[in-house]
Amino acid sequence: MKKQFAVIGLGRFGGSVCKELYEMGHEVLAIDLNEDKVNDFTRFSTHAVVANATDESTLLSLGIRNFEHVIVAIGDNIQASILCTLLLKELQVKQVWVKAQNQYHHKVVEKIGADRIIHPEHDMGVRIAHYLASEKIIDYIELSPEFSIVELMATQKVSYQTIADLDIRAKYGCTILGLKRGEDVIISPTPDQLIFEKDIIILIGSNNDIKRYQEEGL
Ligand code: ADP
Repeated sequence: MKKQFAVIGLGRFGGSVCKELYEMGHEVLAIDLNEDKVNDFTRFSTHAVVANATDESTLLSLGIRNFEHVIVAIGDNIQASILCTLLLKELQVKQVWVKAQNQYHHKVVEKIGADRIIHPEHDMGVRIAHYLASEKIIDYIELSPEFSIVELMATQKVSYQTIADLDIRAKYGCTILGLKRGEDVIISPTPDQLIFEKDIIILIGSNNDIKRYQEEGL
């Protein structure tokens, strides 16, 4: 389904979000103070406008209230990011996602109602650390500080066994959500599903249980 987004700030982070959403077929309004940035993004957005997102009347004239989802990706100017977030929440934008620069910035935008706060460098660093620490982890999504979804590469040890044979839920408290085999994706596999070496196992569980499984079970 096509959705409408507004991305404020077209730096590395906001720029990537804007481009990706647009390429996925969504409607994206791209906003930046810098005219060169806006010109660069006319090809990668539905509308690209030069505007100061800390000015309430400007936001109103852009019809920002009609957007269900706005991403505030103003980088170094923390003050502008905070003011913009405050205005968006006052204008009752439902989902305001904010790129935070540091913990202070995080706390303030959380208090004024940001719906999701992103720390791209920190979050990417955590993901990369997980890939580096285990050659079995293909991908990793943090659901909360305690729970994750991971993609693990099936080893020879588990090859030609069924999901029931592995008994991961009883032994490790983790659940297999799906399997990837080449181009095929098997969602909610049944207990009699066979696993082969190099299949990708999509697993949900607590970080401790996942760690235990990949160290002892895989
Ligand atoms: P990143 O770290 O993601 O690369 P940057 O700090 O380079 O982020 O980019 C932030 C962008 O936000 C810049 O292009 C800047 O022009 C834009 N920006 C800063 N303040 C405002 C504002 N008040 N309104 C709109 N855009 C802004």
